[in-house]
Parts: sequence; structure tokens; C-alpha cells
Amino acid sequence: MRKEPVKIKEVEAPVRSGNFEEVILGYSEEEALREAARCLQCKNPLCSSGCPVGIDIKTFIHKITQKDYAGACSTIRQKNNFPSICGRVCPAEYQCRKACVLTKRGERFATPEAINIHFLERFAGDYGMNNPANRQSGAKCIDAKAKKVAIVGSGPAGICCAGELARAGIKVVVYEGLHKLGGVLRYGIPPFRLPRNILDYEIESLKKMGVDFVPNFIVGRNKSVDELLKEFSAVFLGLGAGIPSFLGIKGENLCNIYSANEFLTRVNLMSAYKFPKAHTPVNIGKSMVIIGGGNTAMDAARCALRLQKMNGLNPDTTVLYRRSEVELPARRLEIEHAKEEGIKFKLLVKPEEFLGDEKGFVRKLRCLQCELGEPDASGRRKPIEIPGSGFEVDCDIAVVAIGLNANEILTKVTPALKVDKYGDVVVDENTMETSIKNVFAGGDIVGGEGTVIEAMGMAKRAAKSIIEKLCNQR
Ligand code: FAD
Ligand code: SF4
Repeated sequence: MRKEPVKIKEVEAPVRSGNFEEVILGYSEEEALREAARCLQCKNPLCSSGCPVGIDIKTFIHKITQKDYAGACSTIRQKNNFPSICGRVCPAEYQCRKACVLTKRGERFATPEAINIHFLERFAGDYGMNNPANRQSGAKCIDAKAKKVAIVGSGPAGICCAGELARAGIKVVVYEGLHKLGGVLRYGIPPFRLPRNILDYEIESLKKMGVDFVPNFIVGRNKSVDELLKEFSAVFLGLGAGIPSFLGIKGENLCNIYSANEFLTRVNLMSAYKFPKAHTPVNIGKSMVIIGGGNTAMDAARCALRLQKMNGLNPDTTVLYRRSEVELPARRLEIEHAKEEGIKFKLLVKPEEFLGDEKGFVRKLRCLQCELGEPDASGRRKPIEIPGSGFEVDCDIAVVAIGLNANEILTKVTPALKVDKYGDVVVDENTMETSIKNVFAGGDIVGGEGTVIEAMGMAKRAAKSIIEKLCNQR
């Protein structure tokens, strides 16, 4: 008889929605062993084909069944440097779990029968983190004096590339524009999804391996790429995509309308989540409206609701999205969690105009109801407005979370760096080298799916090319 999937423990919604503590508690050893034992150890393991970096999933799960947790962790680390992070944030329902042979075919997302690969990855990753003796260490330098690489940006792409190079014995300096390290993992994804000690641990490990970090340093302002190339043998650009898109509708300049990036940065990076220990540098309203349906929108909504509760307000946070539930691009788990926590969803809705009071503060959002038409270029059915369906939603704080574009500070002042029409840096897909010799790029700045694991995959490819190049130059 087929065994039931092992459920993951979570903090109850009424409790967790009043704080920023981690929601998912992870598998115990006994639970991980039971879940790993469900894996069929397929001859042709489809799961790995669904992983953007091709982790040997079958082997790491087998190692868990053998109680070789350190081995499981190092199997994952061969392809993915940060299993504790990816085990918490990867959209596995579109990736490895969807490809798992146990998932029902023809479904849009993985079905519950699929092995909980991401939770097992988290279990193995956390084991590695809590037993540092099992961690890989840096190798001897190829040539410490001559080989130095500069990395711009400390998000997943930057820190993954730094780790790969440091392990090959190359001296690395990471320049970060913000005062804290980690990119979106720090300022975007809230601590209830990714506790900060995990990110801190990975960064500390890199420091121990000899990686230098220079925060508050904007390449393109404090130093140019040309100047870096005089000092370093190669440069890796992991600049990310932090420029928000706006709706472009009337009233969008009213007070208390935030971009999701600004809102989340204020909450996560500027410590609003520590309320009342830290004074909250973000306005909280009685009726908070989040526009969008991706991970960013879910994070903003769940933060908003938590802050309402922590500030003694009745929680009233609504997500407005222009398509239906099945098209919501966010991770399924985040959508479920958001609903359990009391976030309301108004679907098939198109914002038309923000309405304000005499002092210039937003008060309402006028919307139109939509229905779904034919699929558009993205393959998703297009929302079509229903004439005469207008209605108003109360809204004293709005957060616009409809997409992010490439960071431009560096690319704008580096004319030799080829970018496409979206401002994304153009690279050779195999080597990740840009139009400037010895300058490589990866992560959101080159486009793609916009996931942590994909950013890391690109960074790994770039690091491999850099290492090959530097070795050949010896
Ligand atoms: P980033 O993480 O954006 O890091 C880029 C870094 O470069 C930043 O720290 C920036 O300050 C720095 N920088 C930029 N320009 C310069 C410069 N000129 N000089 C110095 N430093 C510079 N993905 C998932 O897989 N799962 C999720 O659950 C998920 N949730 C998300 C939630 C939110 C709110 C957001 C915004 C994104 C989410 N994503 C998720 C997407 C994922 O976080 C990104 O794909 C990933 O962070 C990209 O990594 P990166 O290193 O390319 O860029
Ligand atoms: Fe195990 Fe599923 Fe991979 Fe088969 S496809 S090896 S069952 S995780």
C-alpha cells in the first residue's frame, strides 16, 4: 500500500499572523525518514529534470533513508549552495515536485502525492548548518596575489558566485549598495518565510572562507566597472531587479501608496517587523490593499496583516488580482498561508483610479470586474474588463506589487555593457560572460524566471567560466 505524504508542522494561523516568527517548523528526523521512505528511487528520476540546477534528488533522498544526513546535504550542495534557503523558498510545486513520478499527470501544479522534496532539502540543509563540521571549506588559493574577483550585489546570485570562487581558492570582494547583505533574501522575503539566522549563517560562512564584503558601496557611483577591471581579474554582476513597475493609473501619486519594494524594504530591512521594539518606519492603515498576485504581493499582504494586528487594528488586508486564482503566480503554499491568516482575495479585478481626500491621502480604489478571454503571449488567459462593472474598495494604504525591472544604476553608466529592451544585461548563456571581456552576470539582472534557485544556477555557470578562464591565464 502506498504511504501517505508526511505533513509538515506549521504554527497555527491565528498565532503566527500576529508576529514575524517562522511559519513552517520543518520535519523532525522521524518525519524526514518517513517521507524519504516514500521515494520510489526511480530508475529514471524525473524529479531532477524539474530542478533548475539538476540536484541529484534521488541520491540525496536515499542518503536520508540511510541516516547519512551530512551526505544528503553535500549531495545537494554539489548543485545548490544554499539548501536551507531553497528548501524554504523554492516554488517546488512548479519544479521538482511537479516532475516527480508520483504527482498526478496533466495537473498544473504538483499534487499532494508527490514527494515533499523541498521539505527534505530543508531538513538536510538545516542538518548541515547545525553540524558545521560537515560543511565544505575553502580550497587553497590558485594564486592569491594575482587572482581576485569583484562581485557586485550580495543577493543569491552574488553570494553563490562568491562561494564557488572562494572554494576554488580565488580571492573575492563583494560590493553591496545597501547597508545589509543578502539582496531580496534580506529586504524582500520576510523572516516568517526565511529566518534571518539562516542567511546570516551563509554569509558568515563565506566570510570565514575569506570572502570580503563591502556594504554601502554602489558600483557605477563609488567606482566604475572599468576601475574594478584594473584591480580585479574578473567582475561578476549580480545586480538583481529592484525597480518597481507601477499601474500608471490616475491618483497613483497620492500619499500612502507604496511600491511593494519600498513597503517590504521598510518592513524587513528597516525593522518595522520588530514592532514595538523598533519604531515602525512604515504607515499602517485600517484597510490595506495589495495589487498583484506574485510572491511579492503575498509577502506584502502577509506583512501588512501582521502589522495591522501588531498595531492593535482589526486585520483588513485584501489582495486584488486581475486574473483568477489558478493564474496567481505566487507559490501555492504562500497563497494557502495567506488565506488561512485571513487575507481576502478579490480576483478578476482591474484597478482604474485611486481616490484621495482633501489632504492628498488615498481613501478608495475604483476597480472594474474582469472575465478571462483567450490566452495571451504568456500562455495565461487574458483578463477582459466587463463594461459597467465598476465598484470601489476602501483603501487607506495601497501596495503596488505588479512586477520588478532590472536595476539600472550600473548599466546606465556602463555603455559598453550590452542590455536588451527591458534593460536586462545580455550574456552568453553558456559562459554568462557579458559584452565586456571578463565581466560576467547572472540572476535577475539577466532576466529569466526570477527565482532564487535560477539566480544561483546562473551564478554557478558564471563562476565555472571565471575559474576556467583564470586557470588558463596562469
Ligand atoms: P537580488 O536578490 O535582487 O540582489 C541584488 C543585490 O545587488 C541587491 O542587494 C542590490 O542592492 C545590489 N545591487 C544592485 N545594484 C548594485 C550596484 N550598482 N552596486 C552594488 N550593489 C548593487 N524567488 C523564489 O525562488 N522563491 C520565493 O519565494 C521568492 N519570493 C520573493 C519575494 C519577493 C518579495 C521578491 C522581491 C522576490 C522573490 N523571489 C522569490 C525572487 C528572488 O528573490 C530573486 O529571483 C532573487 O533574489 C534574485 O537574486 P539576485 O542575486 O539576482 O538579485
Ligand atoms: Fe523519488 Fe519522485 Fe524522484 Fe522518483 S521522481 S526518485 S519518486 S522524488
